Amino acid sequence: MSFNTLGLSPALLKAIKKQNYTTASPIQEKAIPLILQGKDILASAQTGTGKTAGFTLPTLQLLSQQHPTNKRSVRALVLTPTRELAAQVYHNVKQYSEFLNLSSAVIFGGVNQKPQVAQLKQGVDMLVATPGRLIDLQNQGFLSLSKIEILILDEADRMLDMGFLRDIERIIRQLPSKRQNLMFSATFSKQIKTLANGILSQPAYVEVTPENSTVDSINQKVYRVAKGKKAGLIIKLIKDGNWQQALVFTRTKHGANNLCKKMIKAGITAAAIHGNKSQGARTKALSSFKNGSIRILVATDIAARGLDIPLLPHVVNFELPNISEDYVHRIGRTGRAGASGEAISLVSADETQYLKDIEKLVRLKIPKQIIEGFEPDPNASTVPEKQGGGRRQTVKTNSNPRTNKQKASRKY
Ligand code: AMP
Repeated sequence: MSFNTLGLSPALLKAIKKQNYTTASPIQEKAIPLILQGKDILASAQTGTGKTAGFTLPTLQLLSQQHPTNKRSVRALVLTPTRELAAQVYHNVKQYSEFLNLSSAVIFGGVNQKPQVAQLKQGVDMLVATPGRLIDLQNQGFLSLSKIEILILDEADRMLDMGFLRDIERIIRQLPSKRQNLMFSATFSKQIKTLANGILSQPAYVEVTPENSTVDSINQKVYRVAKGKKAGLIIKLIKDGNWQQALVFTRTKHGANNLCKKMIKAGITAAAIHGNKSQGARTKALSSFKNGSIRILVATDIAARGLDIPLLPHVVNFELPNISEDYVHRIGRTGRAGASGEAISLVSADETQYLKDIEKLVRLKIPKQIIEGFEPDPNASTVPEKQGGGRRQTVKTNSNPRTNKQKASRKY
């Protein structure tokens, strides 16, 4: 569907044209008119579906229709789980608001707060933020949330996974009770539904991909392999297949560093991206990956969240995630926008149960292969390795948000 029929203003249509978007994506087609009508929405959408434009375009339009009375204060707030996602959403907000008289800013931790404070002082209409820095700046008196008209929770499931529930509740309690709420989540656990019940008021549901099912265009494969032979196998796959761009997931930061070193030693350009890296190092790794100066990006789940890497041909699970939903998030980075993609998982004996959980969640038996010279270890234990670092328990979800009756009244 063309953007022209969605009720967007000429200034926004001009910005869309500048981005060379010709048709609205399904989430945009469904969400934009509902948001323009002032409705709360609960949307199931992964990265790559165009969800950011889906909430940013109508939000900008609503903001531009009403002029702030006195000094500019934040009227729309987007909360995101990671700095990368915050930066990316802000980038889109800037692009789409180019022809509007609105100001926007982004705030996140890990960098000097001074430029962020200076921007807030000048007055901001739409603010993109991670919860920690938002609370921090608010506690210091640099920011008021009392004029918020629209609240957007982006990747709400990941925010809960990262332990932001308390922070979200704390932020929401300070917002005016009369406001519009938009919540986006790739998966729908019980916790997410509880959060949605507490925040949203008679929401409209917007769904673009079947819940927890993986996209048809992704070719999924499992290689059964001995744990100690995984690095050798992935190097072989990259070299034999002459892969130019692949995103590789490891379970730990240490594992990401280790694998990255092995690849570099094997003559493959690679960088690791994880929570211990500085913001500058992460941004540099991502841009080198995007511009093709490195072929492989090795990432942990949390660091990879929200990365905007269009049309990625290969995603590799060097280790399977112990949270089945993370598998869906990970492989959702390939096969976007109709392009075919390949999702490969290297599975050792101790990951057998994780594989079973994943297959149950995606309702699919993933084809398994063994490569000569990289066979699984027949004597290895099938008991999962102990998870370090206080990882979460596997959360199983297979229910549909539609079946979960929403309460008419909100908690916050
Ligand atoms: P998102 O799912 O919001 O992370 O968006 C994924 C990518 O799709 C971003 O690079 C957007 O710039 C791009 N995009 C968003 N909407 C459209 C559209 N209607 N047509 C083409 N590309 C789009």
